[in-house]
Amino acid sequence: MCKLEVFGDYYRGCEHFIRTYYSGEKIDCNSQTCGISSAHIHKAPNCRCNKVPQDDRRVVNMFRTPCDECRSFDRLPR
Ligand SMILES: [Zn+2]
Ligand SMILES: [Zn+2]
Ligand SMILES: [Zn+2]
Repeated sequence: MCKLEVFGDYYRGCEHFIRTYYSGEKIDCNSQTCGISSAHIHKAPNCRCNKVPQDDRRVVNMFRTPCDECRSFDRLPR
């Protein structure tokens, strides 16, 4: 399955990876049965091959805390 390189921050507090941006770099798996690979053989747009790339995560910053979203969720009254 092909991957798209994505940079972001990893929060160990909640184990969330928050994407910052996609570099545009694609790691092609060269599989004939991968819908987004350049080696894909099918012509029909509705073939059953996977067409969703996976994230190839590049951690830029590592935090021990939970991410912003999880922190604000914690602050909500219950
Ligand atoms: Zn692929
Ligand atoms: Zn296909
Ligand atoms: Zn989080």
